[in-house]
Amino acid sequence: MKNIAILGSTGSVGENTLKVIRNFPDKFKVTALSANADIDKLSRQIKEFAPACVCVNDKARALALSKMIKPGVKVFTGSEGLEALVKDKRIDQVMFAISGSPALAPLLSAIDSGKDIALANKEALVMAGPLITRLSARKKVRIIPVDSEQSAIWQCLKDEDRGSLKNIYLTASGGPLRKLSKQALKRIRLKEVLAHPRWKMGKKISVDSATLMNKGLELLEAMFLFGVDVPKIKVLVHPEALVHSMVEFIDGVIIAQLSVTDMRIPIQYALAYPERLRSPLGGIDFCKVGGLHFEKPDCLKFPCLSLAYEAARELGTLPCVLNAANEVAVAEFLKEKLKFMHIAEVVQKVMRAHRNKPNPVLGDIWEADKWARVQARKVMARLN
Ligand code: MG
Repeated sequence: MKNIAILGSTGSVGENTLKVIRNFPDKFKVTALSANADIDKLSRQIKEFAPACVCVNDKARALALSKMIKPGVKVFTGSEGLEALVKDKRIDQVMFAISGSPALAPLLSAIDSGKDIALANKEALVMAGPLITRLSARKKVRIIPVDSEQSAIWQCLKDEDRGSLKNIYLTASGGPLRKLSKQALKRIRLKEVLAHPRWKMGKKISVDSATLMNKGLELLEAMFLFGVDVPKIKVLVHPEALVHSMVEFIDGVIIAQLSVTDMRIPIQYALAYPERLRSPLGGIDFCKVGGLHFEKPDCLKFPCLSLAYEAARELGTLPCVLNAANEVAVAEFLKEKLKFMHIAEVVQKVMRAHRNKPNPVLGDIWEADKWARVQARKVMARLN
C-alpha cells in the first residue's frame, strides 16, 4: 500500500489522481490533501478518502473547513502549512498537482524529507531546475514526471544509455489557436482561448497552451529532468495529440510513446511505477485515427516559445523571470484586463530588462521572481 499526498486535489490533475486511486483501493491510500480555496469540494474529498491531514491555502477558509469535517483530521494552512504537511512521516509519495510558483517551496521541502515525487507542476522546475535536481540527487529522491510529454520521454529513455541519445521530439497539440492568423489572434477572447481541442485542463495551463508558453515551460522542464542540452530538444506540432513525445538515438532509432489523450494514463503510471496496472480507459483505434500529422511550430505567431528557448540557452535567473512575468500576465488576461497578444510582449519586455544572474542560489531565485512580478505590472500599466 502506497500512502499518497495530493497537493492541489481540487484541480484538474488532482481530481484525476483521485479517480485513479478510486480504481485501486488496495494499492493506494490518500494520506493528505490540499486545496487553494475550494473547501466545498475538498470537504467532499475528505469524506470519501479520509486523509489524516489536509491543507487550505486561505486561512479563513481553513477555519471554515475545520467546522465542516469530522474532528481528527489535522488542518494546516498557508504555504508554511504545506511545507510542514509534506514532511508527515506517513506519506510515501507526494503528487504535485498545484499550478504555478507556489509549488516550489513545498517541493523542496518534500524532496528534503525524502519523499518520492510525482510532478505535474512545471513552474517550480522552470524556476529552480538545477537546485531541485541537485537536491533530489543528494537525497536519492525519485522525481517521476506526470506531464504527459515528460512521462513519454521518461518511458522512452528508460534504461537507455544517455550518451546514445541524439534528440528529443517534444510534441505539442498546437493549442486551440493554431490555425488562426496573427490578425485574428489580436482580437481573440478569453472563451476561445480556454477551449482546448484535445486536453481538458485548468485555466492557467489552457492559456499557456494557447500561447505555446506551455511548450516553452516543458522545454525547460525536459532539460532539467533529463539533463539534456537545448539544441537536442525539438518541438513538433502534432494536432492529434496521440504521440506524447519521442526520443531519437544515435543509431537512428526513434522510440515514441502513444496512448489516448487522458491525464489518468501518465498519473497512473507515476503512482504505480515501476508496475503497470490495468487501465479502464480504451486504447487507440488506429484505423479510426487514419493519420498522424507533424509540423513546425510558428514562433512568429507564438513568440512565447522563442522566449523560452532564449531562457533555456541563457539559464541563470532568466527562466524564473520568464515564468514570473508569464504568471502575472496570464492572471491579468484571465481577468480580461490584458489582451492575448500582450502576454508575450510583457514576458519579452521583462526578460529584456533583467540583469541575469548565473548559477543562482535559492535566495536569488526568490528575488528574481519578486522583481519580475513588479516589473511585469509596470510593463502592463504602460500597455493599457
Ligand atoms: Mg504537457
